[in-house]
Amino acid sequence: MKIRFNNGIELLCGQKLLLDPMRTVNGIPVLISHAHSDHIPKDVRRSRSRLFTTQGTADIIARRYNANGFEILNFNERRSLGEIDIYPYPAGHIYGSAGFLINCEGKSIFYTGDINPYGGLTVERPAEVPDADVLVIESTYGSSKYRFPNPQRVRLEIAKWAAEEVYKGNSPTIEAYLVGKSQEVIALLNKYTNVEIVVSENIAKVSTPLKERFNLKYSLSSEEPHVLITHRAKSRRKARVTGWVLFSSRREDFPLSAHADFDGLVNIVARSSPSKVLTVYGFSKEFANWLKKWGINAEPLGKEWVEL
Ligand SMILES: [Zn+2]
Repeated sequence: MKIRFNNGIELLCGQKLLLDPMRTVNGIPVLISHAHSDHIPKDVRRSRSRLFTTQGTADIIARRYNANGFEILNFNERRSLGEIDIYPYPAGHIYGSAGFLINCEGKSIFYTGDINPYGGLTVERPAEVPDADVLVIESTYGSSKYRFPNPQRVRLEIAKWAAEEVYKGNSPTIEAYLVGKSQEVIALLNKYTNVEIVVSENIAKVSTPLKERFNLKYSLSSEEPHVLITHRAKSRRKARVTGWVLFSSRREDFPLSAHADFDGLVNIVARSSPSKVLTVYGFSKEFANWLKKWGINAEPLGKEWVEL
């Protein structure tokens, strides 16, 4: 079995399998871990390959890209593709997000996709991490300086800030990613405040698959003071909700992330107890170096094939 990072993650085991590729290749099956644009093939709408993903991810992609025809994988249920067995695990990153345990030639590989061990208010379940011989782990925040505060505390800070602004008669703006973070912010404001929430049209569109399941309450306009959630805000006084504002001193910046932070990633490695770790995305070199220092066989996954 061989693996490399070229067009997304390419796996060769009797046949080829693409994980989160940039583009599909005719006849090669594709696994999509979640509905963020950097994990979805650009040609998802006209692809002729078999595309596998969870129902949650398929629903969001259908709303956002008008793409259909996915083969649905259920969490913890086996799907066989020739010699390859695939088991999806909840990743806790955004609604529908999955990691994939892949068994082939007597070896197991777990690809985390983007993963959040702390879970969220709008995911099916917190992340589950199986044992695997090889762990392919995202390292978006794989630098030791990224250690996030308790997410529940950040949620309450966002709720407090928003409620105070609305109480003063303002209509504050919160900037949050279109898929995942926007719905998390709606859910936390619904849960901890009674402020009215207005969202931009594109957020409303992709929120539809989650609306009923998580009982999300929002509208497209309001005459009363309200919180506006949009993925691109012009206002200079906007609040921002993302892990990348961790070192910002602005009062309106809230480091609530959908990813594992450094300690979370280390914890995932420990839970999976692999004999080899391959890092992808973000601080992949730095994270692999940390793991090597601790005696773990780790390297960033690059364009060269790695024999497993
Ligand atoms: Zn993501």
